[in-house]
Amino acid sequence: MINRELIPATEGHELLCLQSELMVSRAAVARLELRNQQLLSALATSQQQLAASEEAALRTQNMETAFARLRDHSQRIEAEIVERNRELSCEKALVDHIVASIPVGILYLDRDMVIRWANAELVRVMGLGSEQIVNRSVFDVLPKLDPWDVLCEAVLAKGETARFTGYPIVVGDRRHYVDATLVPLFEDDRAVQGMLLFATEVSARVENERLQQEQIETLRELDRLKGNFINAASHELRTPLTSIMGYAEFLEDQVGGALTRDQQGFVSQIQEGAKRLQRIVDDMLDFARMEAGSFKLVLREADLGLLIHEELTFLQPLLQEARLTLHAELPDERLAVPMDPSRIGQVLRNLLGNAIKFTPAGGQVSITMHAGPDEVHVAISDTGIGISDQHVEMLFQKFFQVDASITREHGGAGLGLSIAKALIEAHGGKLGVESRIESGSTFWFTLPRLAETDELIGTLD
Ligand code: ADP
Repeated sequence: MINRELIPATEGHELLCLQSELMVSRAAVARLELRNQQLLSALATSQQQLAASEEAALRTQNMETAFARLRDHSQRIEAEIVERNRELSCEKALVDHIVASIPVGILYLDRDMVIRWANAELVRVMGLGSEQIVNRSVFDVLPKLDPWDVLCEAVLAKGETARFTGYPIVVGDRRHYVDATLVPLFEDDRAVQGMLLFATEVSARVENERLQQEQIETLRELDRLKGNFINAASHELRTPLTSIMGYAEFLEDQVGGALTRDQQGFVSQIQEGAKRLQRIVDDMLDFARMEAGSFKLVLREADLGLLIHEELTFLQPLLQEARLTLHAELPDERLAVPMDPSRIGQVLRNLLGNAIKFTPAGGQVSITMHAGPDEVHVAISDTGIGISDQHVEMLFQKFFQVDASITREHGGAGLGLSIAKALIEAHGGKLGVESRIESGSTFWFTLPRLAETDELIGTLD
């Protein structure tokens, strides 16, 4: 500090002192300014550092948040994976259960015909352990039978689905039968990568079919024996029947002496019974011939209208006795049809005879004939007892009678219709029926107007 009271004495010196003080002060100020600047720049640096560290702190905080989010996310994904695995193993267990329970054997074969997988049913059908099946060639496990290898080839080569039925699988002394389907499995490029075999055990069905076949054979044999018996019996019956009819005729003609009215009545009863027996024996003989295939038709052109007239005349007494009216609608002109007249007469007798037999008194029997360009159509209708739908189906079977007790009153062995049908069919025609129970029946047949051969062999089958 400068003392102002001393300055007037030594003015120059004072000035110098003042100047040097001033210089010192300036230097101090300059130092202070420098220091100040240094401090300011240090402040700026530390402010920058502060800002940078704040930023770093913020970044660290952000990263922590991001890490926390990532952790949450991955935990959620982990939980989802666990849940998905649980669902998948449930689904797998369900699929395994279904595959194990389906009653169809399933086999997966690769291109080299090696069995890669088999389900429980297939293992059961094969009667082997799955370790004896899987990873082995199908031909070592199953016998290489036709058409098995052919079908496998077709599936592999052409990519077709193949099916086969009643295929025998022999394992040890066990024999199974399966119906199988081979389905090709395609890769993306449509090349066949292997095949699936679906096999259903049908041993019971095959066994039933075998038993049925045996039964059919047995029935055929019985049929043959029955045919032989009928043939023998009808021939054996014919001789005594001829003599009964012959002697009855002698009695009727009173060759051995006059008969009383009662005795004449007995004779006509014998004749009536013998005629019925004769019809049955004739049917039996025809049946036996047809069964043996030795039944012949001799065709010739004959007038069908005339033949019908003759049969109606022959049956007139029966119609009267049964108190039935007859209605006939026949063309006036001659109608030549190629036929065996005696056999068509037999058919007409059978159909008209049945119409009379099965129509109660007071009813009507009608016959109509119509000629078309290719065939003639004959229909015989009655207002009788009719036939139920269920019985109509069996009507043309041999020995079939709807009600044997009714037929017994009139005679018959249930052969007439089957013989009539066979006779009409041997002529190239058709025989059919429409009937309503308790309303009546219409039996009809057709005959072609042009014969293909002069002679035909007719059979019942
Ligand atoms: P059958 O000689 O014993 O009469 P058929 O083969 O001629 O044998 O007839 C078989 C059965 O069909 C008869 O027993 C009868 O039950 C039935 N039937 C045939 N024709 C008629 C008809 N017109 N009305 C009712 N039933 C009939």
